[in-house]
Amino acid sequence: MNDMSQPPKTDAVPVSDFYEITETLAADELATLKLVRSFMETKVSPIINKYWAKDEFPFELLPEFKTLGIGGLGLEGYGCRGGSQQFFGFMVMELARTDPSFATFFGVHDGLAMGSIYLDGSEEQKQKWLPPMARMEKIGCFGLTEPLVGSGTGGGLTTTARREGDTWVLNGEKKWIGNAPWCDVSIIWARDVADNQVKGFIVENKTTPGFSVEKIENKIALKVVQNGLITLKDCRVAEANRLQSANSFRDTARVLRMTRYAVGWMSTGCQMGAYEHALAYAMERKQFGKPLAAFQMIQDLLAKMLGNVTACQTMMLRLAQLDDEGKLKDHHASLAKAFCTARMRETVAWARELCGANGIVVDYNVARFFADAEALYSYEGTYQMQNLIVGKAVTGLSAFV
Ligand SMILES: Cc1cc2nc3c(=O)[nH]c(=O)nc-3n(C[C@H](O)[C@H](O)[C@H](O)COP(=O)(O)OP(=O)(O)OC[C@H]3O[C@@H](n4cnc5c(N)ncnc54)[C@H](O)[C@@H]3O)c2cc1C
Repeated sequence: MNDMSQPPKTDAVPVSDFYEITETLAADELATLKLVRSFMETKVSPIINKYWAKDEFPFELLPEFKTLGIGGLGLEGYGCRGGSQQFFGFMVMELARTDPSFATFFGVHDGLAMGSIYLDGSEEQKQKWLPPMARMEKIGCFGLTEPLVGSGTGGGLTTTARREGDTWVLNGEKKWIGNAPWCDVSIIWARDVADNQVKGFIVENKTTPGFSVEKIENKIALKVVQNGLITLKDCRVAEANRLQSANSFRDTARVLRMTRYAVGWMSTGCQMGAYEHALAYAMERKQFGKPLAAFQMIQDLLAKMLGNVTACQTMMLRLAQLDDEGKLKDHHASLAKAFCTARMRETVAWARELCGANGIVVDYNVARFFADAEALYSYEGTYQMQNLIVGKAVTGLSAFV
């Protein structure tokens, strides 16, 4: 392997920030972004392919990652880092620019798990759970999907919750749950058998009897993320651990709106990483006595990739403004999630094509972005589901079923 496996070191602004959108950040936000970028480029990038190939999570990185102080990004109070949604978006994009798996681990913890408690928990629950999660002393996951229920979670959850006095008894299975095999706190969504509504529960998964988790093996995407198949067998959870403001799937959907927004940024970061590695490769690799980058058709590929990246960046920037103004709706987030993940799929495929045979070898990085993109395209609601949400908003007609 040679230095073609590494992206160009550009110090401040990545070459994939063609319209200089990073300049829209406030000075203190930019300082934190640079700190995180440096960590990702110097600590994560050199070792992540090894972990990806082995299907393992790089626990060795966590102590330093915690010191960056970004736990609870985008959430106010309770020891959280806080900051605008724009700042949160840039940060997620930056993580994914080096590694979509690492961005996903953080997104599941910060967005899905902490976000559920932040949006649907009582004051007491927020006080109890958010500070240690913001310090990343406790890591969270979010259990919504089931083996037989994916896109249809809104109406079809089969995991049940039965109240017995001050205790709830949970039964069922949750599949694909990121961080589940090793985390501390699981947010479990289940259907209350009494009123048929979806409710959320905070489960201390390492100590609650009846909770077990099995790692999902043989994935071809986001291999660094440890996904779990959770089994809940008469798992007893105190009423105090039921998310007090989650009374129906609408309350689950509020969390998903926020995290779908984040996946828009993440898929933009994934494209940036693939593009930057492809550009570096094109500059170094020679054929017919010239660098690949000197050929017209290669330049066409680079321009198309950069067009996609830039379109997604600018779309996400506007979406961030809407979010920060409190105007973000489900259909806004859905349009961006669908559009950016579709563009991402094109971009990573062009990057892989540009690298020829080396594009399928993980050592050259592009292959990792290429494979990881497939998971981003499907999770947090598939392309079709997002477009159906947009379709319903623009026509007033639901075409889900
Ligand atoms: C790496 C990874 C991490 C994940 N992490 C988590 C997690 O942490 N927590 C969690 O709860 N879940 C998680 N998921 C699950 C993810 O959210 C689901 O995979 C996703 O919602 C789609 O569900 P499904 O895979 O069951 O697909 P299905 O719902 O079975 O869909 C299969 C295909 O049918 C299409 N389809 C379905 N219904 C319709 C319709 N009405 N009209 C048209 N087309 C339709 C879909 O678009 C898709 O193309 C993760 C998934 C992956 C791959």
